[in-house]
Amino acid sequence: MGKIKKVGVLTSGGDAPGMNAAIRGVTRTALYYGLEVIGIRHGYHGMIHNHFVNLKAHSVSDILARGGTIIKTARSKEFMEAEGRKQAYENLKAAEIDAVVVIGGDGSLTGARVFCDEYFDIPFIGIPGTIDNDIYGTEYTIGYDTALNTVVEAVDKIRDTAGSHNRLFFIEVMGRDAGFIALNSGIATGAEAILIPEVVGQVENLKDYLEKGFKRKKSSNIIIVAEGDEEGGAFAIADTVKEDFRDYDVRVSVLGHIQRGGTPSAYDRVSASKLGFAAIEALMDDQKSVMVGFHHSELVLVPFRKVIKLKKKVDPEQMQMVEILSV
Ligand code: ATP
Repeated sequence: MGKIKKVGVLTSGGDAPGMNAAIRGVTRTALYYGLEVIGIRHGYHGMIHNHFVNLKAHSVSDILARGGTIIKTARSKEFMEAEGRKQAYENLKAAEIDAVVVIGGDGSLTGARVFCDEYFDIPFIGIPGTIDNDIYGTEYTIGYDTALNTVVEAVDKIRDTAGSHNRLFFIEVMGRDAGFIALNSGIATGAEAILIPEVVGQVENLKDYLEKGFKRKKSSNIIIVAEGDEEGGAFAIADTVKEDFRDYDVRVSVLGHIQRGGTPSAYDRVSASKLGFAAIEALMDDQKSVMVGFHHSELVLVPFRKVIKLKKKVDPEQMQMVEILSV
């Protein structure tokens, strides 16, 4: 690999609070090593359509506390096609960008892997950026901590009103394929049950549980549902439960996009800064096709190959703990 002179940075897929801290970490560390930094706006779409902007030290001033991403993010169908990736490669070459840092989720890192399998001379480093915390090889992803705290705050508020009216609330949180937000927000708020895509057949158990709770005259019930649950979202599950529990006043609340926004937590700012720094250090060490992540709170490098192939699993012991604690 030749000496790197110019590095591109992009955010891709869903936005997540803390992405700006990572962009700042990448930019300032790259400048420290004497590299030029190019912000590739709108993710892979911007790579295909030349949305390149120069980033200087001051370009990333005052962004640590801001949610979202200053270089914007996007999903790009064109990048899924070989033709689109070819165009992206030609644009990177023309702009003399000789390395790229991708901040995004599972899909974005898959895109990086596919690109690197086709074009070998531009190293890519990945940074896990998604509120879902569902990326294999890292215990942390940017935005998860903030999103979790947002959910916890909202659920606490809903519990106040649920308790006052003896209501059964189904609260839907984000997580299309992964239930980490649901699981941990459920633990943090003492939810009576948590329904996640990773566990099948939970609705029957839920009905048993509600039956017992009803006899004990519980004043409120909060059920957290991950949006990707196999039984359907919160509305679908509430409908099936309503039929069997006509005496319950059943309500549904879908938290939606508030989970993505907001000022990033201190934890997200610090961790994202470390990942941004580590991504450039990895490039300086001639690494390529790896994601920087955390394992046992230490920074680690994980090959794209593993990140993409393997699925992060929910610990079954945690699910058992939820049952024990929510009696
Ligand atoms: P989030 O977890 O927040 O949804 P994500 O990175 O998983 O983020 P995706 O929409 O799955 O979000 O992927 C983002 C982009 O990555 C896609 O729009 C596409 O441009 C690119 N991408 C995803 N999968 C592939 C693939 N198999 N080949 C090429 N590009 C891909």
